[in-house]
Amino acid sequence: PDAGLSARWRQEIPALHHDERPDAPRAWVYLDSAATTLTPQPVIDALAEFYATETGSAGRGGHQRARRSTERFESARATAATFLGAADPAEIVFTRGATHGLNLVAGGIKSALKPGDTIVISAMEHHANLLPWRALAEATGAPLNILPLNERGELDREAAAPLLAGARVVALTQVSNVLGTVNPVAELVAMARQGGALTVVDGSQSVAHRAVDVQALGCDFFVCSGHKMYGPTGVGLLYGRRAALEALEPVELGGGMMTSVTETDVVFAEIPHRFEAGTPPVAQAVGLAAAIAWMQAAGMEALQRHEQALTAYALNELSTVKGLELVGTPRERSAVISFGLQGLDAYALGDHLDRRGIALRVGSHCAHPLVRRLGLRATARASFGAYTDRHDIDRLVEALHQAAERSR
Ligand code: PMP
Repeated sequence: PDAGLSARWRQEIPALHHDERPDAPRAWVYLDSAATTLTPQPVIDALAEFYATETGSAGRGGHQRARRSTERFESARATAATFLGAADPAEIVFTRGATHGLNLVAGGIKSALKPGDTIVISAMEHHANLLPWRALAEATGAPLNILPLNERGELDREAAAPLLAGARVVALTQVSNVLGTVNPVAELVAMARQGGALTVVDGSQSVAHRAVDVQALGCDFFVCSGHKMYGPTGVGLLYGRRAALEALEPVELGGGMMTSVTETDVVFAEIPHRFEAGTPPVAQAVGLAAAIAWMQAAGMEALQRHEQALTAYALNELSTVKGLELVGTPRERSAVISFGLQGLDAYALGDHLDRRGIALRVGSHCAHPLVRRLGLRATARASFGAYTDRHDIDRLVEALHQAAERSR
């Protein structure tokens, strides 16, 4: 890893330098970026500047200040569209997060499903990309087929092919939040589209870690969450290819999503506004645009290179810990590593690390079926971001050596 780069990125994260014990040079180690990323100062500044200077609700009202809010909101949409490689800002819907985006899609295609249609997801989906589809399957009678994994925790392409070919809807994660697996989504989407399926990609764990181009992926829908990409909580993106978005039924109704309403009739606004019922999250969108600008200034390739080098370093260091077992050994891995220690309960391991100021996630990571399928109750998961460096990994590995020593 390039220590200079990560040091520069670290400088911009106030939370890393804020601690109750200012005497400790590095009081805590943050290894939970897959749950949520820490916020760079320019994003905090953009939020503060918005609240300090802007007034007026976006998308409604003609006074100058309301118009200015609308401009800021629409400009953030254009930034997001460019970042994701969308053809048109109208293909970007602001949501509350990935979960919200997936629910909008699953709910919005319900009336288009016919008897005999099948829905396909994978065995590594987060509950956000599982439960809405399961509910849809139950409501429509459509079978829900699950793509199996191989022993490394990768999608089994051969087993996937026939299921993808016959599907009406295919929803897959680009990167597993548990195993770190990077799925060949462009290839899987192409297979699914040949059979005429509508394709949905969960990009929650990918957008902050590698360059994403939704048109190159070829998917109909793509979702992600602001708070996992250095942005604010409470905001996310739903990309929909124009035709797919236009065919989606709006399931949330209210102000701002229609052009005319009578007691008996409603005319929906054009995309994307028809999916944004209610007062829009303007400050959050402005903050998210600042986060995108921050990532672009760092460079997506530079971020990916940094995290890949760090992941390789971490895997190597972890292999020196006695009794450490990796959960998932995908050949293409993002900045996520799940593991356990022989003879030590994962939650006890989490406590041991927490007491040493090491923040990582222990649990089943909102993916109960996957973790159960692996025969586990929980895993410990270390995940990285721009600001993670070798020192963070060294602290983790040192604490793991101590835990391994004690549990013997
Ligand atoms: N999908 C994946 C792969 C995730 O990792 C997460 C967050 N853990 C989500 C969806 C849901 O994101 P959010 O809670 O921000 O809606």
